[in-house]
Amino acid sequence: MKDVAAFGVYVHFPFCTWKCNYCDFNVVAIRSIPEDRYADAIVFEALHRLPEHADRRLMTVYLGGGTPSLWSPAHVGQVLAAIEALAGNAALEVTLELNPAEATPERLRGFRDAGVTRVSVGVQALDDALLPVIERRHSAAEGLLAVRNALAAGFGSVTADLMFGLPGQTGDGFRTALQTLGETGVPHVSLYDLTVEPRTPFARLVDRGRVTLPDEDTGVAMWALVDDTLRPFGLLRYELSNFAQPGHESLHNGGYWVGRPYLGLGAGAHSMRVANGDDPVGTAVVRTTNRRSWMAYLAAVEATGSAVGSDEVLDRDTHVRERLFTGLRRRDGVSLSAMARELRVPVLERYGPTIARLAARRLVEFDGDRLRLSDSGLVFADSVAAEFF
Ligand code: SF4
Repeated sequence: MKDVAAFGVYVHFPFCTWKCNYCDFNVVAIRSIPEDRYADAIVFEALHRLPEHADRRLMTVYLGGGTPSLWSPAHVGQVLAAIEALAGNAALEVTLELNPAEATPERLRGFRDAGVTRVSVGVQALDDALLPVIERRHSAAEGLLAVRNALAAGFGSVTADLMFGLPGQTGDGFRTALQTLGETGVPHVSLYDLTVEPRTPFARLVDRGRVTLPDEDTGVAMWALVDDTLRPFGLLRYELSNFAQPGHESLHNGGYWVGRPYLGLGAGAHSMRVANGDDPVGTAVVRTTNRRSWMAYLAAVEATGSAVGSDEVLDRDTHVRERLFTGLRRRDGVSLSAMARELRVPVLERYGPTIARLAARRLVEFDGDRLRLSDSGLVFADSVAAEFF
């Protein structure tokens, strides 16, 4: 399958059984989740919106949330079967985000038989003193058991999420968590920095001094030990915060970093499609966003088959800057000549001075075509990328 002719599908499941104190995702915690109705709506929306990508092949499906593992395997199977039938081909990778509470062997087999090929286990921390601080309701042992059950269930791949920068977390504790995960044999690990989002209960705890975050030096030190700790397990950094054994890199997330179009289904989901290449104003891509509230989403889809609430047209220059921003996250960087051909923008001419400035500060490496972050650039990736804006 040629990468340029592919697209991905993201399905957003906006329900959780509780809301963690740091979370500002588009989710609600409700007792009675409308599983049937929501699955039917996703299928109906897919029927109406998959034709937007009729000239491309389906490459990946990602079920995220929220807690999509609260959907029964039968619902997951219903949604996947519809998407693949409408697209006309089976996806190469189907990822399901999984909470440890739903990671029983029986349920995992159900998800695998429903067509899921990869599960993403929300371990978050492997320290029973840290997990309650961010209101995760599982224990460290349950997080580990979830990873082991997922590995035993026969998926093509398994990934585990781990957070750092948690109140009370130390470099030693973080290293131990990375080692413990590596010892399970999990072939992919994603790391997330705890971000204090305004207006969350966690932000109020920080404001009132009830919790103290690790200082900047501790955060930098934690980052610095990751590569060396994960490498012995074959887990190599292929993106800023993602580590994989060869062949287990995320295809779906890889699509976001190389500008592969995607269709977002579900409440608040974002989509991106390539605009008509002959557009005289230089439009590169069109992004749309679905209605955010799950009730408004259901009402709109059930009435019309679509819940698009807003759209945004990006010109080519803005798109190039965003592609540089995301492309630099990849360890192998970006080819400027390939990007110039694809987007019809003279990338090197336009950004040559910026690149020269960054190279002089040893933040990027540039061989005349491929631009990538240097080891020190990795530590300051966001500031480097911001130089292009
Ligand atoms: S489980 Fe995830 S999506 Fe749900 S509230 Fe917690 S952080 Fe948010």
